[in-house]
Amino acid sequence: MLPQEIIRKKRNKEVLSKEDIDAFIKGVADEEISNAQIGAMTMAMFLNGLNKRETVDLTLAMRDSGNVLKWRVDGPVVDKHSTGGVGDKVSLVLGPILAACGAFVPMISGRGLGHTGGTLDKLDSIQGYQTAPTNALFQKTVAKVGCAIIGQTGTLAPADKRIYAVRDVCATVESIPLITASILSKKLASGLDYLVMDVKFGNGAFMESMEDARALATSIVDVADGAGTKTTALLTDMNSVLGYTVGNTVESVEYLKQNKVNKRLDEVTKALCAQALICTKLAKNRAEAMKKVEKVLSSGEALEKFQQMVQMLGGPADFIQNPMAYMPAARVVKPVFATQKGYVRSMKTRDIGLLLVELKGARTHPHQTVNHATGLTDFCQIGDMVDENTPLCFVHAANEADFENVASKLESFIEIGEKPDIAPVIQDAIG
Ligand code: URA
Repeated sequence: MLPQEIIRKKRNKEVLSKEDIDAFIKGVADEEISNAQIGAMTMAMFLNGLNKRETVDLTLAMRDSGNVLKWRVDGPVVDKHSTGGVGDKVSLVLGPILAACGAFVPMISGRGLGHTGGTLDKLDSIQGYQTAPTNALFQKTVAKVGCAIIGQTGTLAPADKRIYAVRDVCATVESIPLITASILSKKLASGLDYLVMDVKFGNGAFMESMEDARALATSIVDVADGAGTKTTALLTDMNSVLGYTVGNTVESVEYLKQNKVNKRLDEVTKALCAQALICTKLAKNRAEAMKKVEKVLSSGEALEKFQQMVQMLGGPADFIQNPMAYMPAARVVKPVFATQKGYVRSMKTRDIGLLLVELKGARTHPHQTVNHATGLTDFCQIGDMVDENTPLCFVHAANEADFENVASKLESFIEIGEKPDIAPVIQDAIG
């Protein structure tokens, strides 16, 4: 069928057959379908929706538009995906923890865009680490270490790459079936047996309301199951920075060393690890999963996995001994103090994430380069008691002007007042 006839069907609110979807996606991958046709089709899908069967078919067609990795490893292959937040560094610690517990984690991550940080930018800050290794090195690292975190290659779900670029400029990003198929096509192309999702809601998340986040999580769990990959999801709160840092240098090593453990980061990480261990049957129940996670953290096995991954992918052999020696440092590092006494009540999390763009540590356009040294550290947490002598955070800037700019804005992004009620970071589990 001609592409315009398939578009016409969806425009007229008809249900597309598997053949329609396969033909359209094949045309996208072969470049026989134009960007205008992709724009029209995704707008028709955005407005008229897709049922679960259509979304499964779209996911599988996009997954199969490129290579689908296969693993010959002695254990379950599992990965985690987050819908993106501010200060989120869970992937960097979850991969090594699960590897130390006997899972294999081939994690294909993205760079940050806008207010959300990217796992890959954090790894790019480590001297020598290759985020685009050969497929052979990626496979070898996963098989030998148990985890490898790398960037998306052009051969994984190329149809999604074209479609996403068009959606981005045609106002069709915010569609649950399209987001579901986009996320899952890339994840399932990496050959997973199981997937755990961290779907965030709140003022620093892609989906602000919990209802929208729940709808997305439910759609992803249902469609992934329909596509043959057992998936579970957590709904987690992104109304404040996750962890103590916003930026690209690696707080994760401190976490894996259990030196400076942020409570919310710890809860999200362990809960996602537990879900992964249970669904892979590496643990019988939550209690056993938690015990395993605690053990590999306290014994240093997870830290050692992180080191092995860094080293096999080209990073320093003694990275975990002295991480700061191998990461860039900012010229100006100064605190920003609270201007009044009280409790940290709330944060404008998205605006805080955007400060990293102002520090040139994050990008507004996919092709921009970033300064990996800049960012915010020692970030205050909701419920902290502060006064005029308490730093709300330290700003790492390339120069005084950037510091002043960010410091002048920070105050208005952090509300100080009466003692707040603190919401649990994990609100629900789905699947
Ligand atoms: N992230 C993706 O990979 N795809 C979307 O559609 C939205 C967020």
